[in-house]
Amino acid sequence: MNSFEVSVPAIGIPFVARGLRALIAGIKIAAARAPCQHAPMGKPELDTMEHCACSSVSVTARGRVLSMLVCSCLDCRKATGTGHSGIAIMRREDVKISGKTRHFDRLADSGAWICRHFCPVCGTPVFATTTRSPTLVLLPVGLFDNPNWFAPTQAIFSRTHLHWDTLPEGIPQYQNYRPQ
Ligand SMILES: [Zn+2]
Ligand SMILES: [Zn+2]
Repeated sequence: MNSFEVSVPAIGIPFVARGLRALIAGIKIAAARAPCQHAPMGKPELDTMEHCACSSVSVTARGRVLSMLVCSCLDCRKATGTGHSGIAIMRREDVKISGKTRHFDRLADSGAWICRHFCPVCGTPVFATTTRSPTLVLLPVGLFDNPNWFAPTQAIFSRTHLHWDTLPEGIPQYQNYRPQ
């Protein structure tokens, strides 16, 4: 249940004190059941199950998001069908995948292999792994129904960024990867 499902019924109640109380109660419930809480350092804590567009594949994410970024590399542009992807990075042990995925491997400029998994039925990108950081998993933010917690702190592969594509303001942009 998300915040909209909780609060919408209350909006139909006539605007009297009782209705207002119901609306406030709905907002409180929505806040309590939000799929994440912002932790110190701006890294959200997730506890949520998400699905690909056809629901053949489920992703359960429980734990801290370690990093959030946007990427304008050619592969992300092809995977999303637009100018950049939004990516949340978590520990592998905090993410469980149910259902079959297909994948393909690409050799990145860094020399690392990137393995991109997608739903074989609907084609939704589901997750990716990289030999650059083998303990981590990359989750496409478009997979989440309600990713209000997403706040990217860097933009990578700006060398292939498209001028018409809007990126978040005020975050550092790197030609390739952020230097490690
Ligand atoms: Zn699917
Ligand atoms: Zn990319």
